[in-house]
Amino acid sequence: MKYQPVIGLEVHVQLKTDTKIFCGCSTQFGAEPNSQTCPVCLGLPGALPVLNKKVVEFAIKAGLSTNCSITPRSIFARKNYFYPDLPKGYQISQFEDPICQRGWLDIPVEGQENKRIGITRIHMEEDAGKLVHGELSGPGDGSGVDLNRACTPLLEVVSEPDLRSSDEAVIYLKQLHQIVTWLGICDGNMEEGSFRCDANVSVMPVGSDTLGTRAEIKNVNSFKFVKQAIEYEIQRQIDLIEDGGTIVQETRLFDPNSGTTRSMRSKEEAHDYRYFPDPDLVPLVISNEWVERSRQKLPELPGQRQQRFIDDLGLPRYDAEVLTASRALADYFEAGVAAGGNAKAVGNWIMGEITRALNDRGTSIETCPVTPVQLAQLLKLIDTGTISGKIAKTVFDEMWQSGKAPQTIVEEQGLLQVSDISAIESIINDIMAANAGQVEEYRGGKEKVFGFFVGQVMKASKGKANPTVVNELLLNKLKG
Ligand code: ADP
Ligand code: MG
Ligand code: ZN
Repeated sequence: MKYQPVIGLEVHVQLKTDTKIFCGCSTQFGAEPNSQTCPVCLGLPGALPVLNKKVVEFAIKAGLSTNCSITPRSIFARKNYFYPDLPKGYQISQFEDPICQRGWLDIPVEGQENKRIGITRIHMEEDAGKLVHGELSGPGDGSGVDLNRACTPLLEVVSEPDLRSSDEAVIYLKQLHQIVTWLGICDGNMEEGSFRCDANVSVMPVGSDTLGTRAEIKNVNSFKFVKQAIEYEIQRQIDLIEDGGTIVQETRLFDPNSGTTRSMRSKEEAHDYRYFPDPDLVPLVISNEWVERSRQKLPELPGQRQQRFIDDLGLPRYDAEVLTASRALADYFEAGVAAGGNAKAVGNWIMGEITRALNDRGTSIETCPVTPVQLAQLLKLIDTGTISGKIAKTVFDEMWQSGKAPQTIVEEQGLLQVSDISAIESIINDIMAANAGQVEEYRGGKEKVFGFFVGQVMKASKGKANPTVVNELLLNKLKG
């Protein structure tokens, strides 16, 4: 029998606010354990939560960018469960009436222009603390609790079960990641857990319209692991069914070392959590004006910007996609074009030399020492024939090191391209005289030797001879 995988993702997006969702403690990652806590996030009796307005603004931005409706009156609920990293014994979350509902993302998939993936809801909630085991936990080798992360704001983005393969799941996830980092509401750091996902996976016979029983794989924190975890889980379920077994609804854990998933606990149902409205927080009322103000302030989103690069600047789709990988990269590109650079050329340099240099040094475009204006100036020097494309790379390296303008470097180091015919002619004469044998070979029909002469002339001119002129003159002279 053939099976159709079905996947729905629940993504936790940690918000980049300065302070926590219900108190004024810092959200800075990596501080001394428990140094960023107060009675509210420690869950001390009598301490009262106050909602951070920034969190609401970020949630609205996320909702509008994923085509959701913003709920005019949303409420907070208590999700009750016991775990040592949860000091209150409940997590403040949203259950009924979450802030954003019924959105979607269009993802590119093979064989189709776009596929619409429904977003069921986006809700706000607080994160839990962290358990620390072994040495770091303090004296002895027991376990400790670090509550710095407790009460850190999260958005949970829940998709419809619309994804049909691990590849689709990863594309969707990457697109969501791009949007939240682009909006500046999440730092996107998956290793630190700022963007993590639970993958719900089931399989059903091809052609069936009844979804199979799902397993939920918890907290997968890289794109690669999401793909691995889903693929393993699909195969596990198919094998089990083929062997006559039945899938049980459960929560599973992905083990990156073995690439497998294993059962953690049977799936809890909503009623297990005894959700009820949190009496300490009033309903959140969001006016139409607030939503509209937010909409006005939204930046141009990655998809829109890609399309504009294609339509207005004539970029190929591939280039447009690469150049909108981050907002900073897209800004850099546009600044280069605004400074007079040819769009395709600016794009090529960013995707080539600049990306290579950034990767070599392990930095990102935000700290690129060559400014977009300088890049455009460099391209102009190539366009006008002032320097050759080859020398341009030398100039670029020097710009990177010294931060100097390209013209200055060209002048200081005498890198002007030589297009002067008599100067090049005299170099060619010398080289032909010194390599009489090769001249004979060429004239005898061995055309490959031509490349040797080009190389010699370029070398003798230290790369400065204009290659077009060199080629023309050489052809003429070698003919004899
Ligand atoms: P819970 O909070 O209990 O995990 P939901 O019912 O909200 O609950 O579903 C969570 C996720 O599971 C959603 O992303 C949804 O798309 C996905 N999902 C639901 N049913 C299936 C299924 N049969 N196969 C795969 N994913 C599913
Ligand atoms: Mg879930
Ligand atoms: Zn606090």
